[in-house]
Amino acid sequence: DKLREERIKYLTDEKRIKAVTVAFTDLEGRLHMLDYDKKFLLKSSDNLTFDGSSIRGFSAQAESDLRLSLDWASFYWLPADIFGPGKVLMFSEVLERDGTPYHSDMRGLLKRITDQMYAKDGTVFHAAPEIEGFLFKGRDAERHYHETEHFEFISTGGYYHSLPGDKLRAFIDKAAEAQRAMGFQNEKDHPEVAPSQFEMNFSYSEALIAADQIQLYKLLCRQVAAEMDLTASFLPKPMTGINGNGMHMNMSLSKGGKNLFYDKGGQDGLSQMGWDFLDRILNNANDICLVLNSSVNAYRRLDPHFEAPNQIKASPNNRGAMVRIPFGNERSARIECRSVAPDSNPYMVLFTLLKTGLEGPQPQEDAETKRSRTRFLPDNIFDAIRLFKGSQFIAQTLGENVQGKFAELKQASAERCPKQLGTRVKAAEIQFH
Ligand code: GLN
Ligand code: MG
Ligand code: MG
Ligand code: MG
Repeated sequence: DKLREERIKYLTDEKRIKAVTVAFTDLEGRLHMLDYDKKFLLKSSDNLTFDGSSIRGFSAQAESDLRLSLDWASFYWLPADIFGPGKVLMFSEVLERDGTPYHSDMRGLLKRITDQMYAKDGTVFHAAPEIEGFLFKGRDAERHYHETEHFEFISTGGYYHSLPGDKLRAFIDKAAEAQRAMGFQNEKDHPEVAPSQFEMNFSYSEALIAADQIQLYKLLCRQVAAEMDLTASFLPKPMTGINGNGMHMNMSLSKGGKNLFYDKGGQDGLSQMGWDFLDRILNNANDICLVLNSSVNAYRRLDPHFEAPNQIKASPNNRGAMVRIPFGNERSARIECRSVAPDSNPYMVLFTLLKTGLEGPQPQEDAETKRSRTRFLPDNIFDAIRLFKGSQFIAQTLGENVQGKFAELKQASAERCPKQLGTRVKAAEIQFH
């Protein structure tokens, strides 16, 4: 199509570009990247293959040859001072050898459903993530955790507070510059509640772009930190006794530029459609919990004492509630799902939340009654796996293949950890992406 031709021309003419990083994400949310020399890529962009069997949890031996199909709409310059000169990055769809979509490629799934929704009646799914992270001393601190068994703060800075010359502030500034260079619409950034914790917000966008940006945000933060001989960590709860890292997900639907979640006269300024979307998420919260919180460590975070929610309810201001309804106007009315961990697969999270909000089984009883009774999310991954595995809704939504495979992967990583989480974070919980 036209965009593809334009991009090919740009790649060909732009002398500064030497290589193209082709990115995709595995089922557990890890970003994978292959660097292609530009000239080679331009010759063979229709036939990019890779061995899927070497990607953990991605492909069985029998289905090892997979293909990558470039998404020409996704196109990011990688800032040279951080990633080296002459590189752009594109996301790709993973296909079977015969060109059919590969079932474990969640990006492809999210792209197809949002494209279909738009084609049908012009509805767009918008998302804005709020991704928190910690900045720790030393390079690769997560990798070394099995020796050190602790992380060291780089700053004592708390919420909105930082001293001149503070390393955390210097890191945030560098990362924000990299974001701008990559075309993010930066909004605000600040040290977070816990010492050495940060959060950098950028504008909402279409869900697929938002998910791509989550992957890029984590990548650039890690890269900037490494350049400073530090570690950016997106573990949900690397230290006990202080706040963890959340990835609150703000969501709304719009049509023809009109926000479908806004109703001035609605309860909390939210339309009926907004409330229905929200009620379906709450009603299916247990089934989808593993998608939103997919690591052992994520279940340490879900403690309302540290502003992380485990209560299956909605509230305008209770931060222990799974869904918050931020004060909004016509443009900004939305719901905020707080029970999402930053080490989850962002494509899978957004796909599942969208499907649940639109098609999840409705509450049997009167929604009003249901909302007022407090229910809780699972407090450990074993329960979450069991609920996910037993869910008819998940089978229909993600397919039995993905349901089984995801549960199996999670079971395997959970079994490496003790069943009862102790007070100290165990090395086996540290999964680096
Ligand atoms: N860190 C909290 C969480 O885990 C959120 C705190 C905040 O954003 N004020 O979700
Ligand atoms: Mg925030
Ligand atoms: Mg925050
Ligand atoms: Mg928030």
